Amino acid sequence: MQKDENFGEWFDKVLLKAQVVDDRYPVKGFTVYTGWGFSIAKRIVRMLEERLEEDHQPMQFPVVIPEDAFQKEAEHIAGFSGEVFWITHAGENRLDRRLLLRPTSETAIYPMFKLWIRSHADLPLRMHQTCNVYRYETKATRPLYRGREFLWNEAHTAHADYEDAEHQVRKGVEIYRSVYDRLGLSYLLLKRPDFDKFAGAVYSLAFDTWNPDGKVNQIGTVHELGENFARAFEVTYEDEGGVQRFVSTTCYGMGIGRVLAATIAHHGDEHGLVLPPVVAPKQVVIVPIPFKSKQAEILTYAREAEAVLRDAGIRVALDDDDRLRPGEKYYKWEMFGVPVRVEVGPREMEQRSVTLVRRDNRDRSKVKLDDLVDAAHSLFDAIYKSLRERSWERLEGELADANSLDELKALMDERRIVRVNWCGDPDCAFRLKDQVAGEVRGTLWGEHEEPTGPCIVCGGPAREVAYVSRTY
Ligand SMILES: [Zn+2]
Repeated sequence: MQKDENFGEWFDKVLLKAQVVDDRYPVKGFTVYTGWGFSIAKRIVRMLEERLEEDHQPMQFPVVIPEDAFQKEAEHIAGFSGEVFWITHAGENRLDRRLLLRPTSETAIYPMFKLWIRSHADLPLRMHQTCNVYRYETKATRPLYRGREFLWNEAHTAHADYEDAEHQVRKGVEIYRSVYDRLGLSYLLLKRPDFDKFAGAVYSLAFDTWNPDGKVNQIGTVHELGENFARAFEVTYEDEGGVQRFVSTTCYGMGIGRVLAATIAHHGDEHGLVLPPVVAPKQVVIVPIPFKSKQAEILTYAREAEAVLRDAGIRVALDDDDRLRPGEKYYKWEMFGVPVRVEVGPREMEQRSVTLVRRDNRDRSKVKLDDLVDAAHSLFDAIYKSLRERSWERLEGELADANSLDELKALMDERRIVRVNWCGDPDCAFRLKDQVAGEVRGTLWGEHEEPTGPCIVCGGPAREVAYVSRTY
């Protein structure tokens, strides 16, 4: 089962066999997270929440939004109204005002910000929530990548002025980077072109990452909203001089399913998941190798090893299921992506040692039981570093440059992520999309790349280097 040759088939099989999600729920676009997958997802959420809660308050807003609140910000309605699920009835009765299921929560949150924010002393206000959001996607759905219900975390912040909101945008970026980095994920941080920004934003930043099938996966976005939403919802405060001013706001969202999908897609191999130790529900699995009459003693020794690891705070499973042969257990736990396997047989028992096998490269080593905890930690570290390095090398390898539409077409057929010179005119981006199987995703954020020639579409002077790719 090769990941790169047939990604879709590989991914679906891994999701089911490693019990990540079960996509057979009888409503299209709605997926069940199952035990192993949701344990990983929760660890990703927790890593993010821990960072956010250094200065964001956790909150939980209702899933329903009244129609009149939703319709306050014109661009926002235009951007989302086609994807909204409406609630129109309760029992037999038609509701006198329709409610919608949140596609994102700005229009739920701002009416409350308006009540909470009175003076400059109430600012900045920063909150976040982890919740499901609902979008009636018309493109093909795929579990974790594109669903009609998806799990995400969204943060919303309000500030005294644009400058402070700008500072928060950088903070949001830094928080998201820290989560991706701990998962060993590589990414491009792009400023989306204006025509592709979040509905109602001044500008949008997005983390795009490579996928084995050549379609980039957007794993997080950060938006500068300026005063756009504050004006629509009349969110004002009294400044030090007693003057009423609009707040400036930001928001950022991380789709947990997509981050999980990237973790699976970047690190997995033909045997299944390969999990970074930080999110693995079990970091070590112990497999006893039964031997003739020594079965009971070996199991006792395996339990001793299990206790040593557990007492050190390592998440460990002992697979003492005697219906399976050791080889079948290896196969099973490799599919689940457990980072380290510990094998204990008669020889290990006599020597009071264990054999360690890395999931990522299958390297074997032997250590004394006394050194097991240290050895496990250093393997976790080595695995993490190797996964992260491979992910970044792969991203580098996916990047290419094109100087003509023909070159771009050829590179899109190879499913690469391609840099092109662009004049910045949206028309050129639209024409590009019509002519090649890819779209302009944006320009690198935080560093200016100098164009090396004229606009790839119109031949006029280029102002930017744009990234073009297929996308989910
Ligand atoms: Zn152009």
